[in-house]
Amino acid sequence: MTSGCHPPVEDMSEPLQAVKGMNDILPPESARWEWFEAKVRALMARYAYANVRTPVVEPTALFVRGLGEVTDIVEKEMYSFEDSMNGDRLTLRPEATAGIVRAMIEHNALYNGPLRLWTEVAVFRHERPQKGRYRQFHQIDVEALGHPGPDVDAEQILMCRALWRDLGLVEGRDVRLELNSLGQAHERLAHRAALIEHFEAHVEELDADARRRLHSNPLRILDSKNPAMQALVEAAPQLTDFLGPESLAHLDAVRAVLDAAGLEYRINPRLVRGLDYYNLTVFEWITERLGSQGTVCGGGRYDALFEQLGGKPTPAVGWGMGIERMLLLLDAVGVPTPASAPDVYAVVPSDAALPAAMRACEALRAEGLAVQMHARGRDGWGSMKSQFKRADASGARFALIFGDAELAQGEVALKPLRDPDAAQRSLALTAVADWAGTLAPA
Ligand code: ATP
Ligand code: MG
Repeated sequence: MTSGCHPPVEDMSEPLQAVKGMNDILPPESARWEWFEAKVRALMARYAYANVRTPVVEPTALFVRGLGEVTDIVEKEMYSFEDSMNGDRLTLRPEATAGIVRAMIEHNALYNGPLRLWTEVAVFRHERPQKGRYRQFHQIDVEALGHPGPDVDAEQILMCRALWRDLGLVEGRDVRLELNSLGQAHERLAHRAALIEHFEAHVEELDADARRRLHSNPLRILDSKNPAMQALVEAAPQLTDFLGPESLAHLDAVRAVLDAAGLEYRINPRLVRGLDYYNLTVFEWITERLGSQGTVCGGGRYDALFEQLGGKPTPAVGWGMGIERMLLLLDAVGVPTPASAPDVYAVVPSDAALPAAMRACEALRAEGLAVQMHARGRDGWGSMKSQFKRADASGARFALIFGDAELAQGEVALKPLRDPDAAQRSLALTAVADWAGTLAPA
C-alpha cells in the first residue's frame, strides 16, 4: 500500500542521490570546515559576540515581509512549501537575519540592552548550481542589535579583516573591501525618483528584469550584472548626491575608523546589496580569484527591519559570509589545512589484549590525548605489519603495541613513529597516564 504523500519507489536497489545543488561534506574536506569554524569561534569570542541558533524553517511571511517582495530571493530563490499536515506556509531559511530578528522580537531579548550575536547556518536558495553557488550553502552570520553605530559598523568590518588574517589571507591581495551608504528612506526616495526618470528616458536599453523593476525597485537595476546595461547604469544618478548631512556624517565616522586602522577600501556608489532592509552603511568583501562568484562576505545596517517585522524600532547591523566561497578562496590562495592526526595509534594483536588495550586508551583519552585504536576486522585483528601500516597512515606520533609478552609483564611497547632515531621502549600499564602528562602538544 502506498500513501498519498509517498509515491512508490520504482527500483528499491537503485541508489539515491543528494538533491541537486546540495553537497555532502566528507573527510578530509570536513577537517577544513572544522579548522575554519574553530577560527570563527575564536574570533567571535575575541569580539564578545554570543552564539544564537534559530530554526531552519520559518513562516514564509517572515521572509516576504522582511526581505521585500521584489528581491531575487523572494521572487525566485525560496524553497517554500505547504506543510501537508496542517497547511502552514513555510520556507527553508534563505538568509539568517530575518529569523534572528523574529526571535529577538518574540522573546523580547533586547529587554536588558543591545546584543551582539553570531550564528553558523545552512541557507537554501533555488539558484542555478555552479562553482561557488549552491542550493544549500552555509553562512557565518553576525548581527549587532540595538546599536545605532557607526562604531559597531566599523567594528564588524574590522572583525572580517581580523578573520582574513587568522586564516592566512592578505587584504588587498586576496580580498578587498567595498563600502557605500544607502542613506535613509527619504533620501532613497528622492534618488529613486531621479533613477526612474533616468531609466525611463532609456527604456529601450533595459533588459526584461530591469523593466520589471523600473517602478517596483529601480535601485536593484544598479545591481545588474548584464554587460549590455553597464553604460546606462554607470550614467545613472548616484545616491551619494542625495544624502543629507546626518547620513554623510555616519559614513564619515565609519571611514575615520577604517582609515585609522589602516584598512583600505573603495567607495562604490553602485553597491546596493540585494535586500530591501538595508540603510546607511553597506559593504562587501570581494575577491578576484573566484570569477563571477566574487563576493565572499556582505553586510550593512538595517535599522528599519525590527519595525517591519512588528517589533520596536531597533537599530541593527550585520554581515553574512559564504563558507563554501571562503573555502574555495582559501584553496585558490593555497592556504593549507593544518594536518590533524591522532597522538597515539594503538596496535592490538589479539582478542586477549583488548581489555588492557582499551583501558590504557581510555586513560590516555582522559588525559586529553587523541587515540585511534586499531579495530577488529571480519577476519580478526590482521597482521602486525598491516596494523603498523595503518598506524603510519594515521599520522600518529606514537604507536602503543599491546603485545602478549609485554602485557604479561604489565607493560606496553611505545614506538615513536615520526622520529627515525628514537628507539622503542616499554612503559608500565599503570604509568600511561603519567606518560601522557609529559607529552608536549603536537
Ligand atoms: P550573490 O550576488 O553572489 O548572489 P548575494 O548578494 O545573494 O550574493 P548574500 O545574500 O549577501 O549574497 O549572502 C552572503 C554571502 O553568502 C555571499 O557573499 C556569498 O559569499 C554567499 N552566497 C550567496 N549565495 C550563495 C550561493 N547560492 N551559494 C554559495 N554561497 C552563496
Ligand atoms: Mg544572490
